[in-house]
Amino acid sequence: MTQVTKLFTVFFFLVAFTFTSAQTYNTFYGNTVNQVSASNILNDLTTFENFGTKQIGQNALTATKDWLVSRYQSLGYTAIEEQPFSVSGTTAHNIIITKTGSLYPDTYVIIDAHYDTINGPGTNDNGSGTVLLLEMARLLANINTEYSIKFIHFSGEELGLIGSEYFVNNTVIPEDLDIKVVFNIDQVGGVNGTTNNRIYCEEDRSAPWNNNAASALATQTLATCMALYSTLNTEISYAYGSDYVPFQNNGNIITGLYEKNESPYSHSPQDLLENMDPNYLYQVTRGALGAALEFAVATNPLGVKSTLFTNGITITPNPATNYVNITIANELQKNALITIYNVAGNAVYNSTPTSAKQTVDVSRLQRGFYLITVQNGLQKTTKKLVLK
Ligand SMILES: [Zn+2]
Repeated sequence: MTQVTKLFTVFFFLVAFTFTSAQTYNTFYGNTVNQVSASNILNDLTTFENFGTKQIGQNALTATKDWLVSRYQSLGYTAIEEQPFSVSGTTAHNIIITKTGSLYPDTYVIIDAHYDTINGPGTNDNGSGTVLLLEMARLLANINTEYSIKFIHFSGEELGLIGSEYFVNNTVIPEDLDIKVVFNIDQVGGVNGTTNNRIYCEEDRSAPWNNNAASALATQTLATCMALYSTLNTEISYAYGSDYVPFQNNGNIITGLYEKNESPYSHSPQDLLENMDPNYLYQVTRGALGAALEFAVATNPLGVKSTLFTNGITITPNPATNYVNITIANELQKNALITIYNVAGNAVYNSTPTSAKQTVDVSRLQRGFYLITVQNGLQKTTKKLVLK
């Protein structure tokens, strides 16, 4: 391989990498995330807490199940399945709600949270994940997604991941379910009286190993979305001890969220709203919804894929020397942005255009290959830029 070929190979690898792993702020996703309601979350959390302790075999667990089913019905969902399984002589239920994708109806993004509790009402573990799913489902109800979504409320988690194990053995494996990613949400309610500004994004670091790299990429996507659509800082951690485990054992691609400040009250009667930080849960919900929109590839109501609409933006000359002229055919939008990235993927230039014709001074940039991205509303284009 010649030196020049090598350089091009490295360059195109970096381009491919940039396109598959780096997300930028998506106005449509952002507008959707801005509709997350803190009071909805609080109302649902209060209802969940008032059911009391929800152990297998207790009436409170059945009442919570019926409430969840009715909430999805009122949100307009019709494909709602109660999947029964037996645990030491009593029957418990997973609740599976399916939203059909427009382009890949047979490939699923699974978003799950367990709703059973132990030794207490479990308002954080896992009322937090439960109501997060409800709020997410409310905002996704009327949005087109390319992939299908299954919202799953698992039961029997606290007794050893019984519901999720049952689902994998009795649905995923026999139906050979095609799963894009499993996004598990467990205990994301924060701790009252502490600064809750950090969230664990959990990746697969266990055997089997062949699904670990894809999990790392999904988790990176999750962390990026948390950063883009919430105020929280992220920390990559490892997945363990929750409902994604049976999926990961089956070779599926998993990711998950868990609070960084771990509540000392889980599995106790003190796992209550008063010991949580509802604003933290609000922020987690925003970020998680952003990730759900990204994983399921949501499109705006006009059906225009917001990241692929590239017409109407021209960049000349290319190759360039001292100046690059950018022309935007449509009216300038609030989010208009010009960014130039070097081959390492770092932004080396950033500006907000003030008119539809903009000249960018590139005379001080090193000569070589770059990527230039111009965004204007739903229009976005990324091109290779050569400086010589
Ligand atoms: Zn839990």
